[in-house]
Amino acid sequence: MTYIIVVSRKQGLFSENMACLFCLGAMGNVETELQNNPEKLSRAALIRGGFKPGPKAFRPPWARYEQFFTDTCERDGHCIQACPEKIIIKSSGGFPVIDFGLGECTFCKRCVKACPSQALSLDADEQKPWQVSIEITEKCLSGKKIECRICIDQCEPGALFMKPAPGGPVTPEIIPEQCTGCGACVRPCPVKAIKVHQR
Ligand code: SF4
Ligand code: SF4
Ligand code: SF4
Repeated sequence: MTYIIVVSRKQGLFSENMACLFCLGAMGNVETELQNNPEKLSRAALIRGGFKPGPKAFRPPWARYEQFFTDTCERDGHCIQACPEKIIIKSSGGFPVIDFGLGECTFCKRCVKACPSQALSLDADEQKPWQVSIEITEKCLSGKKIECRICIDQCEPGALFMKPAPGGPVTPEIIPEQCTGCGACVRPCPVKAIKVHQR
């Protein structure tokens, strides 16, 4: 499949008089790559086709779909200022992203109410704040037979539980339908074993 994407001046990668046609996937992937590995995303890499998309950028709650978000967001930082938990940060591309390493989302909606554009919108088709998946990585202490239930104790919705395996370690498991994606389990984990992905 071939995509043709015109990267605009507003999106900040190219100078005023340049238009760019590449098979890049979504702009959010470009931004994520810039955020994670800014040195790797040189124009030369783009031209050579050496760009490999990273994980999807984790937008604030009630963000519209990625293409619409990056087209619409004014990168004014109003959502960042409004968040009482201080978990929204500006990525190197200038767009807001969530960092659960700083805390959890209480779904207070202040960010979406502060947004002057439709980039964050309660009127959107997607009424849920976001669709997430939780990954408990191999760093988890329980898998190494070290007793730990910190994430479970943090999870107010009760979406985590300890699952015993016959002859194996007792490890945390997720009940996806009960997970709100609040991210409260991320920061307290002593070995940073939990990752929340936005789908
Ligand atoms: S809903 Fe509230 S806590 Fe969550 S990111 Fe927005 S402002 Fe922050
Ligand atoms: S408040 Fe809205 S327009 Fe402003 S940076 Fe946040 S998402 Fe973008
Ligand atoms: S992100 Fe999901 S699993 Fe983690 S504390 Fe929140 S509800 Fe529980």
